[in-house]
Amino acid sequence: MSIKENLLEIKSTLPEHVTLVAVSKTKPVSDLMDAYEAGQRIFGENKIQEMAEKFEEMPKDIQWHMIGHVQTNKVKFMAPFVSLIHGVDSLKLLKEINKEALKNNRVIDCLLQMHIAEEETKFGLDDAELDEILKEVQNEKFSNIKITGLMGMATFTENQNQIKKEFLHLKAIFDADKALNTKNCQMTTLSMGMSGDYQLAIDCGSTMVRIGSSIFGTRN
Ligand SMILES: *Cc1c(COP(=O)(O)O)cnc(C)c1O
Repeated sequence: MSIKENLLEIKSTLPEHVTLVAVSKTKPVSDLMDAYEAGQRIFGENKIQEMAEKFEEMPKDIQWHMIGHVQTNKVKFMAPFVSLIHGVDSLKLLKEINKEALKNNRVIDCLLQMHIAEEETKFGLDDAELDEILKEVQNEKFSNIKITGLMGMATFTENQNQIKKEFLHLKAIFDADKALNTKNCQMTTLSMGMSGDYQLAIDCGSTMVRIGSSIFGTRN
């Protein structure tokens, strides 16, 4: 099937309240343009340099989401245009995003990435770190960022029960923090689910899925 057919088929199965991020990392601009021409406007990349290059080349009504781990020294390269940063997992990073957003006279939306998987290698915050960051944000210390929700990645496993348990855990944290409602913290987005597990993620309460290989084909 073509990129367009893959995209339209996936979109037809998504409930209306679920936003699709087309994960286009490693793929050439021509592939992204196929998706663009089929109506897709939100693209997810995991390397800042690659995202910045694609941003330069492609139509300006695209929303660019940074879904990968972010190094603080590279925030400045995406601050002028990034639409949502999914992987915020430290206060230090949040401070840097705030600083660069201020320089660009923007407010940048961010998701806090929670560690929900069993693997040690996946990035993300634990409950105590989340509370610490939310406390700082509540104190209105950051004028140029807005926390709009949470993101998480389940363990890489065939075990559906385990994945489900991890997604429900993240949903419970999301629900507990949804009541927080200050100028720069409004939790409306729960980013969870990829090609292999997005249907399960939606059943567990996801509002944003990040799908790559099921749209663009496998990556090298
Ligand atoms: C690559 C990636 C995805 C998409 O993965 P697929 O399995 O290709 O759908 C989603 N989220 C993150 C954080 C990724 O790095």
